[in-house]
Amino acid sequence: MNDRYNNIETLCVQAGWTPKTGEPRVLPIYQSTTFKYDTSDAMGRLFDLEDSGYFYTRLQNPTNDYVAEKIRALEGGVAAMLTSSGQAANYYAVFNIAEAGDHVIMSSKVYGGTFNLLTATMKKMGVECSVVDPDAPIEEINTLFKPNTKCVLAESIANPAVVVLDFEKFAEAAHSHGVPLIVDNTFPTPINCRPFEWGADIVTHSTTKYMDGHAMCVGGAIVDSGNFDWEKYADKYPGLTTPDESYHGIVYTQKFGKAAYITKATSQLMRDLGSIQAPQNAFLLNVGLETLHLRVPRHCENALAVAKYLKSHKKVAWVTYPGLPDDKYHALAQKYMPNGTCGVLCFGIKGGRQASIDFMDKLRLISIVTHVADVRSCVLHPASHTHRQMTDEQLLEAGVQPDLIRFSVGIENVDDIIADLEQALA
Ligand SMILES: *Cc1c(COP(=O)(O)O)cnc(C)c1O
Repeated sequence: MNDRYNNIETLCVQAGWTPKTGEPRVLPIYQSTTFKYDTSDAMGRLFDLEDSGYFYTRLQNPTNDYVAEKIRALEGGVAAMLTSSGQAANYYAVFNIAEAGDHVIMSSKVYGGTFNLLTATMKKMGVECSVVDPDAPIEEINTLFKPNTKCVLAESIANPAVVVLDFEKFAEAAHSHGVPLIVDNTFPTPINCRPFEWGADIVTHSTTKYMDGHAMCVGGAIVDSGNFDWEKYADKYPGLTTPDESYHGIVYTQKFGKAAYITKATSQLMRDLGSIQAPQNAFLLNVGLETLHLRVPRHCENALAVAKYLKSHKKVAWVTYPGLPDDKYHALAQKYMPNGTCGVLCFGIKGGRQASIDFMDKLRLISIVTHVADVRSCVLHPASHTHRQMTDEQLLEAGVQPDLIRFSVGIENVDDIIADLEQALA
């Protein structure tokens, strides 16, 4: 059906649920754990993955699938799935191809939860992780690969460091070693950046952020480009290229072709780990997606105006926002996301850590919340909130200065946002 239109604004509004005559105009919530079949054999064929169809919502639910289909279309991939959170999305994306005894490479500038997931929790599961500065030259990245390296993971714009990824460098390093590049595209969203066009193989999202956009539901998504040739590196990815005994010897790449990776993640990981998104939440996510193309440019426009204002204020020590022409990452942003980056920027108040905390306590319109990418402007101090378990050394390695305030600029009138900053700074 998507051959009727391909512009991203139309995909936001119309992709996914496309009702046939007489069906509801709005995506229905299939509020049902289970699905009925007329014969025992019909249901049996579903369990064997012989037929496709629904049988239990932990594996698949139509509401979720229509929303995953919209996100697939927005990213330009071949298959997609929803998860209960962005954490689950990144976990599944990696664990689908890396298990005990394997090794992965990750950018050091990633979300704190992802950093913990890869370096602490998955380490306990036997997956070793090497961390690399995303600004490191390719020669240095290349030295980290081992025979058991299974993927490279990075964020298109790092949360909270707002570092823009050099996609081509990371894709070249990954592909020259025969492994896929997984990119968490939460911050720019497909409105501003489509990682598959720059060599990423798998994209993940915390849909909790701009996609939902209203701070209503925690959720995640994984999209596969279909471009990585698992069969070419069959020895490295036996989970995809050799028989799955828990599914009567199915070989995912043979049976599902380009959908192999997502089918495996659904039929093994979702089956056994169960991090599903509730259909109610998927419905709300879809409402958010319908206006993503309107909200994201407004977030960026406001963020740029706020960044310029802060930059010129005498009490502000520093501002990082890749939309600023003199920002370290402006050139990469111009290349990979020329229409805009995101609504998140970082800055510090002169006087250091305590001055930043005092400033935040004076804000009225802008609220202190553990969140970003919401219609409402909000701030967070990573050193005393999200990243508080990290040492100062780890904070700096993750690109987080101790005085750093992460500011998620909302879509209110920008004059009101600046007025609130003005009175708090005064
Ligand atoms: C928030 C976030 C996550 C984690 O997502 P949750 O939905 O909170 O589990 C992962 N990656 C990035 C870039 C994020 O901003």
